[in-house]
Amino acid sequence: HPPFDINAVRRDFPILAERVNGKQLVWLDNAATTHKPRQVIERIRYFYEHENSNIHRAAHTLAARATDAYEHAREVVRRFIHAPDAREVIFVRGTTEAINLVAKAWGGQNVGEGDEIVVSHLEHHANIVPWQQLAQAKGARLRVIPVDEQGQIRLDEYQKLLNDRTRIVAIGHVSNVLGTVVPVREVVQIARQRGITTLVDGAQSIAHTPVDVQEIGADFFVFSGHKIFAPTGIGVLWGRREVLEAMPPWQGGGNMIADVTFEKTVFQPLPNTFEAGTGNIADAVGLGAALEYVERIGIHAISQYEHALVDYGMQQLATIPGLRLIGTVPGKASVLSFTLAGYTTDEVGKALNDEGIAVRTGHHCAQPILRRFGVETAVRPSVAFYNTFDEIDQLVAVVRRLASQRR
Ligand code: PMP
Repeated sequence: HPPFDINAVRRDFPILAERVNGKQLVWLDNAATTHKPRQVIERIRYFYEHENSNIHRAAHTLAARATDAYEHAREVVRRFIHAPDAREVIFVRGTTEAINLVAKAWGGQNVGEGDEIVVSHLEHHANIVPWQQLAQAKGARLRVIPVDEQGQIRLDEYQKLLNDRTRIVAIGHVSNVLGTVVPVREVVQIARQRGITTLVDGAQSIAHTPVDVQEIGADFFVFSGHKIFAPTGIGVLWGRREVLEAMPPWQGGGNMIADVTFEKTVFQPLPNTFEAGTGNIADAVGLGAALEYVERIGIHAISQYEHALVDYGMQQLATIPGLRLIGTVPGKASVLSFTLAGYTTDEVGKALNDEGIAVRTGHHCAQPILRRFGVETAVRPSVAFYNTFDEIDQLVAVVRRLASQRR
């Protein structure tokens, strides 16, 4: 039994009552995006009905309301990730934009010819491509931490990769393909001992494991709101204050300036330095509501329950003839990837969809790690705390039936 009222939780998410192909929806595509509770939907509606305004720039009442709501959301983010200072929380579009911001602004200033950037073999394309672009522009080199057969990064090989030219280690916290929980605290500590900057991609960890940016110790931690029950188009770049303050702004425009002449611009202090233009105000407020919702359930309770679901799913799937689990590190978070002999991953996805069960199939925007395991695509069910053991049983039953009908 989950350590919270799962029926009440499920009633909070209206879309879970949806019917698909005549069946009740079973949403097992949480690694792609999560659903939104009524509390988030209603908070955004309230914003547009009672608070909508641009922020900071006007003296009228609605501007004050909108600004208060937006800054309250920033404070909720700070508390949720245990950042020391709300000014270190920058609202961006999502993980992708946050990593691109760091690669452009920090990387532009700190990476030069012959320097090295370290990522792992587990990374999502969002934590590969911006670094590759930076490396190409600067004549720097991208180096890759290998993973073992279960899908964990090799810390011994990682240590050997670091040298005097290493400028940054950019590492995913949880793999979106394998569910591997990476020991980011150790990874960061090893880099920091050598004075190397660190970024942690928290896109897949934020909704599934407790995150404390001070405990992790990295210079940057980034995540997307939509993976944690908030809207799309809003996400967070957290950075250590002194690191952010030493960085040049990325985009220029309104909101990030204190004074502009044609000769010179004086920039605003944090966080505005990195929030040029009108941001996604309503959805930032929605993100605050989503994190408050998660706080009420408790991320420890969520994590504990999801691990039980994942362990159960792994055990059940492992009994199906011809099924290959991809990613078998103990203590995985959320994700259960597999292939099934005799079927393409698309065929498995379609058969599941016929029963109302939504999973992702394909390359999951992380081609290198799938190729590491000798496949181009996989079927990827992924759980959130609103999923049930019964839904895992439904998934397993369809896959078992397919396996028994193998041509
Ligand atoms: N990193 C990881 C590990 C992810 O899983 C994702 C989303 N699939 C991203 C980065 C990119 O997130 P977004 O598309 O929300 O920017």
